[in-house]
Amino acid sequence: MSTVYRVLDFFEKKGVVIKTRVMNNEMAVYELNRFKHKHYAVCMNCHKIIAMDNCPMEKFIPELEEDDFHVMGHNLEVFGLCKDCYSE
Ligand SMILES: [Zn+2]
Ligand SMILES: [Zn+2]
Repeated sequence: MSTVYRVLDFFEKKGVVIKTRVMNNEMAVYELNRFKHKHYAVCMNCHKIIAMDNCPMEKFIPELEEDDFHVMGHNLEVFGLCKDCYSE
């Protein structure tokens, strides 16, 4: 593990950054912990990561069997092909 990742891991534990795992945990995206979170689209071919401006699940309230469960967040992964990889 490189120093950069150790520092990011430390920040993650402190809640300074949020780690989002993409591509079946093969890659991780770090970002500063802000009130408004972001989601990412990942290119399946070149693994380029593009941030999405909106959260499609912002108004989504999951129905849970457990009444006592408090939802604190969610994870959403969008994958496809970037414009460099998508050719007709
Ligand atoms: Zn691509
Ligand atoms: Zn969201």
